Amino acid sequence: MKCDCGHEPTFWIDYGEPGYDVIDGKTLCYACGNRNDTINGMRREGEAILHLYKKKGKNGKFHLGNYWSTVVFKDFSVVEIFGRDNIRRDVVFKFEGQKWYGVQVIKNESSPYSNPINCRRKR
Ligand SMILES: [Zn+2]
Repeated sequence: MKCDCGHEPTFWIDYGEPGYDVIDGKTLCYACGNRNDTINGMRREGEAILHLYKKKGKNGKFHLGNYWSTVVFKDFSVVEIFGRDNIRRDVVFKFEGQKWYGVQVIKNESSPYSNPINCRRKR
């Protein structure tokens, strides 16, 4: 079968067999489902859990996006403050013309997916 998004269902080793999301009556592969969740959540709730990490070997450039990187922000600024045992990062970016911000506090850079950042729309 193909999902309504045009992709095959996602094989996820944890689940043992391919699966998909059903959103507003449409079947979506997990990547498209995740994209939909992120964008709908941002529009409706003004909130998003994104992931922020430094790309390896790219002069310390940051990556900001959702879990599957189906929503990726290119234009954002990061201010890093190095504390004694952690790093605080303040992020500012725009989504659909509105200003968003997020704060991340981490001990150090480990796996990309262990570095979530809670982001909110500015009022
Ligand atoms: Zn898809």
